[in-house]
Amino acid sequence: MEKYNSAHPLDYLEKPPKKEKWKKEYKTQLKQYWHESLKKEAEEKSSLVYLSMENIKPGKPHPVWENAKRNPQESMKAAVKVKVMTGTYRLQTDKAKHSGGRISDKCKLCKQQKEDVKHFILDCENLQNQRSYYLQKIRTILQEGPNSSMIQHLFDNQRILLQMCIDCSHPEVATLIGADIQQIEMVTRALVYALHRERTALMPG
Ligand SMILES: [Zn+2]
Repeated sequence: MEKYNSAHPLDYLEKPPKKEKWKKEYKTQLKQYWHESLKKEAEEKSSLVYLSMENIKPGKPHPVWENAKRNPQESMKAAVKVKVMTGTYRLQTDKAKHSGGRISDKCKLCKQQKEDVKHFILDCENLQNQRSYYLQKIRTILQEGPNSSMIQHLFDNQRILLQMCIDCSHPEVATLIGADIQQIEMVTRALVYALHRERTALMPG
């Protein structure tokens, strides 16, 4: 009870609350505690920089899993997106980092730049066809939304654009797009999955 910032057990013994009330209070305190500690722990991890902790709520799935329930195709796509979100999708820079200088961080598709998450999602020219197709779809959705005047700002700012592609539930992106988050989540999920498929297909050896 001390851990969850609850009242002192002796106080409860002296003045027992109604069962339902106590259950409700305790549940809220418990959720709050775990949300705060998860958030705190995540803030210290550089791999989680694109994961919006605002939407990590104990007992509730992250928006990335919405619409993916009971749909094997969507679950498969969501699983890839979650890897990118949590920094566990292995790119050349990750492989190089752990290789002690034996592996190059250069992108194996274009052989031009180092392959980090920004290169993979926004820059690699070998994945441009897939990328353009889905980004255009997003543009169309946003044009019909309430914040259509912000689209150019969103597409001009690489940092925000990348954040939208990885986790559009991030407050900075969510307030900017103003549209249905779930719809954007679905399209960015398809985008990331298409990039993943294309990257795997084009990968030499
Ligand atoms: Zn590349």
